[in-house]
Amino acid sequence: MIQENLETVKERIQNACRRAGRNPDEVTLIAVSKTKPVEMLQEAYEAGVREFGENKPQELRDKYPCLPQDIHWHMIGHLQRNKIKYLIDKVCLIHSVDSLRLAEAIDEEAGKRGLRVSVLAEVNMAGEESKFGVTPQEAPSFVEALSRFPHLRVEGLMTIAPFTEHPEENRPYFRNLKKLSVDIQAKNIDNVCMRHLSVGMTGDFEVAVEEGATMVRVGTGIFGARDYTARP
Ligand SMILES: *Cc1c(COP(=O)(O)O)cnc(C)c1O
Repeated sequence: MIQENLETVKERIQNACRRAGRNPDEVTLIAVSKTKPVEMLQEAYEAGVREFGENKPQELRDKYPCLPQDIHWHMIGHLQRNKIKYLIDKVCLIHSVDSLRLAEAIDEEAGKRGLRVSVLAEVNMAGEESKFGVTPQEAPSFVEALSRFPHLRVEGLMTIAPFTEHPEENRPYFRNLKKLSVDIQAKNIDNVCMRHLSVGMTGDFEVAVEEGATMVRVGTGIFGARDYTARP
């Protein structure tokens, strides 16, 4: 099932790229494996997946030693400062930097360990109260502030768009985030390279790709629906 789902998702990404005149190599598919057991991640790995996304630090820490070392782990969920230690040396990218306090704590922990951590700034494009991230208006100065941390590398923007049955409704959010990233890139801030736009989930990744996503985070579309009552 996982392999077939993967092929379908990849094909849909390729078609979206074709529609938008983009090269499919520009889009990284991240398999969001939160709540799913290690056996399912292993199955995805065997089907070729090397990019996995998790949203809970302890879950990532626990899965990490059970799977091959050539996996790239992505932290995509809200991160509490006291949990940075569980994942800072395991992830290739923290997508969800949503406050200066968090950035400061990541920078401090990275400094202690002699690391430099790649991060994205999370922007709450729709202004949803239930979601984290800075406002689009705050984003440029937030990125500028992030750029001053010596142990961070600022690599782009991320948003979690509203859940919707109608992906077209999210198109303006994706388009505006892309515009924001182009505007920030144009400022040529030291230590900032807006190479990544992490947007798009199972319900809306094709629209996200059409609007410039370089990373799409797909869970349900690959692994099936999540059961939050079961322990992974
Ligand atoms: C769970 C999650 C996803 C994947 O959601 P699906 O709708 O299952 O594809 C993507 N991004 C974030 C931040 C998530 O928490």
